[in-house]
Order: sequence, then structure tokens, then C-alpha cells
Amino acid sequence: MNYEPVIGLEVHAELLTRSKMFCGCAVVDSTQAPPNTCVCPICAGLPGTLPVINARAVEFALRVALALNCRIPELSVFARKNYFYPDLPKGYQISQYELPLGVNGWIEIETEAGPRHVRIRRVHLEEDTGKLFHHPAHAPEDREHSLVDLNRAGVPLLEIVTEPDLHSAADVRAYGVQLRAVLRCLGVNNGDMEKGVIRFEPNISVRPAGSTELRTRTELKNLNSFRALERGTQYEIERQTQVWESGGQVAQETRGWSEAESRTLPQRGKEQAHDYRYFPEPDLPPLALAAEQVEQARAALPELPAAQRARFAAEYGLGRYDAALLVQEPAVAAYFEAAVAAQAPGQRSPKAVANWMLGELFRLMNEAGQDLSEVERVAVRPAQMAELIALVAGGTLNLGTAKTVFENMLRSGRAPAEIVAEQGLAQLSDAGEIERAVEDVIAASPAEMALYLGGKATLEQWFFGQVMRRLRGRGNPQLIRAALSAALARRWPAPKSG
Ligand code: ADP
Ligand code: MG
Ligand code: ZN
Repeated sequence: MNYEPVIGLEVHAELLTRSKMFCGCAVVDSTQAPPNTCVCPICAGLPGTLPVINARAVEFALRVALALNCRIPELSVFARKNYFYPDLPKGYQISQYELPLGVNGWIEIETEAGPRHVRIRRVHLEEDTGKLFHHPAHAPEDREHSLVDLNRAGVPLLEIVTEPDLHSAADVRAYGVQLRAVLRCLGVNNGDMEKGVIRFEPNISVRPAGSTELRTRTELKNLNSFRALERGTQYEIERQTQVWESGGQVAQETRGWSEAESRTLPQRGKEQAHDYRYFPEPDLPPLALAAEQVEQARAALPELPAAQRARFAAEYGLGRYDAALLVQEPAVAAYFEAAVAAQAPGQRSPKAVANWMLGELFRLMNEAGQDLSEVERVAVRPAQMAELIALVAGGTLNLGTAKTVFENMLRSGRAPAEIVAEQGLAQLSDAGEIERAVEDVIAASPAEMALYLGGKATLEQWFFGQVMRRLRGRGNPQLIRAALSAALARRWPAPKSG
């Protein structure tokens, strides 16, 4: 039987406000600040304190809800979600439950297999918990212990929940990338998954293809990169498919992704909602959003990634998927547009810019462990990329040497023309010299020539490579190809097979 994956995501995103959700403590990078230095009686959960709603966090949440096409109810209500855990000093988390800030939205995402419409069930405000650090016993006299850092306790957190509208690991990744792009575009989150400021939790089930039932799901945690998000989801789809196929039952549980072991492991059985004993937070009034505040926020939204993607496709003639990759990061989109703008009017080639960015630039940044947001700081500036592309278009460089020059530019920050001149990399288009190289190679390869004449037509590509090598990679490929076929034709009888 064929099984179809069914996936919905819960995403937690910390909001980049200056202060916490219900007190004046600063929001700090929890991997940098010394532990427990941004804590007050409110976020430490001392009795007798009163929370106050952070207006900026509400504004940020509203922006996101509107960008995700949600309906904004007039009132939303904070509730207490009760549970005990050492990183939760109050013994409850303040969250929105029955009445969230935004409901019934949607986002259209672009995947390699085409567009997908993903419904957003709800967007609500809550507060983050503290962080636990577990220290195992290293020596016999050591004791295993845990430490808690409350700097993160009370940081504004936005939860974004989809309907179960995704159907593959690749869809999940595309959703993750594009939702992160929306949050970054709105300036409400810096998107740093490794630091946990945005956390993706897919709920995954599989069902017989064609059915509409919803089977038991598992929820996946600890996914701190898009790679882990995609691999963990794929693993879980395959695991569940095997469980059903072997006549077993998938258990409802929370599972964690282990990057080291490349598999998911059970963490705990899933709580039912009533375990949390939700009730309205008595210390906070309902949150009322006036219609004009909502309309002002809507009018002030920037160009969102979906609109930018459509514009890139229409204005620059890019494929929708390539356009989606370029708008995933505001700095990347800005780089692209700056490079296109730097091209001479008669020589505009947005596709070449996109190819260089999605190919060489991203590959080398990835190798150097750089995040795409760091594109603002790479040594090759957009105008220099435009210069390099012009050198290729004008015939000074072939694509192979252009890649060598690009690597050098990225290391040195120097102009392409300077590197080409210094290293003598300019493309060789002298017909006489190319013909001589072709004849030299043929003369030096009698065995290959015999095979070629005997019918091994694919050797033409091998001869091409040899000629290019002899010309130190600088040869004009079209001229080499022409000279080579002419030289080979002169040595007929040529093979019949094509
Ligand atoms: P909870 O609040 O207990 O985590 P929800 O019902 O709110 O559970 O759903 C959480 C997420 O799980 C949502 O994104 C939803 O779309 C998704 N989901 C719910 N049921 C299933 C299912 N059977 N298979 C896959 N995803 C599901
Ligand atoms: Mg959940
Ligand atoms: Zn505080």
C-alpha cells in the first residue's frame, strides 16, 4: 500500500523586542549574556508581582498575523498553562489559548514541485521559558546536576500553527525557509535556528494514499537547522510507514531528532490539553485591538517575500523557485537587486546574477560555514559580480576560468579585471593558436584517435578536455569545439553512430 505523509507545524519564534513580554528586563542573546543577569521578580515568578503586556510584542505579533493573512479578532485573551518544570519559575506559562491574536490565515509557499497553499490555524503570543543546562558526572566524586538560566524566561514568543496541509519533508523545509523569510522581512526575529530563536516542531502522521483520515501523529523536537528539519521529518515518515506496514500502531508521543544517530527517539508521551488546566490569566485584561490599529499595521507592512518572489519572477524573468530562493533572506534579495542594477543597461542579465548567486556564491559561503545573511559582508560586492558577468558575456572569460576568478575575488576582495590581468586568465580566442593546440593533442594521442575512428564518438569530449587543458583552461569553448570537429572531420571515415 502507498502511504501519504500528513504534516502540520508548530513554530515558536522569539520576538526581537528590547524588553521581555511582561516585565522591563532586557531580551539578550542567551548564548552570550552571563546567566541570570536579566531577571527581575516578575520573570522570576515571585509571588505578589504583576505582569504588564509589552506593546511592542503585540505590534510585532500583529504584523506577523497580518502577513500570514489571518483574521484578527477584536479581543484576544491570555491564559495560564499550568505545568511544573524547573525552567518555568511561575509554575505556569502565560499564553493565549481559546482566543488567539490571529486565526484562519494562509501562506502560499513555493516548492521545487510547485506552489502549495498552507492554511495557518492560529498565531498567538506567549512567553518563553528559562534554559536548563545538564551536567553529567565526569569523575566518581562528581554529581550529576542541572543549572537553570532565567535570562530567557519571559522573552516574548510567537507561536504559529498550521493546519496539517504539508505532505513531504521537502514541503516542510520549504515552509520553514519561507516562514523564516517572512519573520526576517518583518524585522521581528533574526532567524537564528542554532540559537533556538526560531524553533520548528512538525507533527507528523502517515495515512493510506487517497484517504482523508487523520492518523495518530508524533511531534518532533530539537530540530535546529533546516537540514535537521528535513531529515528528521523524512525519517519519521519512513518509520511510521514501516510501523503501519508491519501491522503495528504508531504511538502518540513526542520524539527528538538525534543528529549524531540520524534517527528520532521517543522523549515522552503527549500530554492532553486538559493536563494543563488552562484558565484565563486573572492578572491581565483581555487584549483589545482597535480596528484602526489593525488597519494601520496592515498598511505599514513591507513588501513581503511572496510579493517580492512574484515581482522577481515577472520583472527579471526568473523561475519561481529560483526567485523563492533569492527572497528567503532580505540581504540576499538586496544583493541580487544591487548586482542587476550594476549591470550596464544593454547587458542586463538577471538570470546570470541568479545563477552565480545560487551556484558559486552560496556554495562557497556554505563551505565557509557562512549564513546567507552574511552575504552583506562577503568580499565580492554586487557591482563586482556584475563586472565578472560582463567579462564572461564579453568573451574575456570562459565559465571555467570565471569560477576560478570568482573564488579569488571572494578571498581577496579584488576586482575581476585585475585578477584576470595578473594571472593571464583572459580567454584565448586566437583561432590559429586554438587550431595548433587541437593538432598537437591529436598528434600526441594516436591510441585515442584510433578508438575514435573505430566508432567511439564520445572521445570527442575527451579531446575537448585535453585541448582545454593544454590552453590552461582559458580556451574559448565554442572556438575549440569548432576547430576540433573540423580537425576530426578531416580524418574521416568518421563513425556512423552519433
Ligand atoms: P496540540 O495543541 O496538542 O499540539 P493541535 O491539534 O493544536 O495539537 O495540533 C498541532 C499541530 O499538529 C497542528 O499544526 C496540526 O495541523 C497538526 N496535526 C494535528 N493532527 C495531525 C495529524 N493527525 N497528523 C499530522 N499533523 C497533525
Ligand atoms: Mg503541540
Ligand atoms: Zn524580568
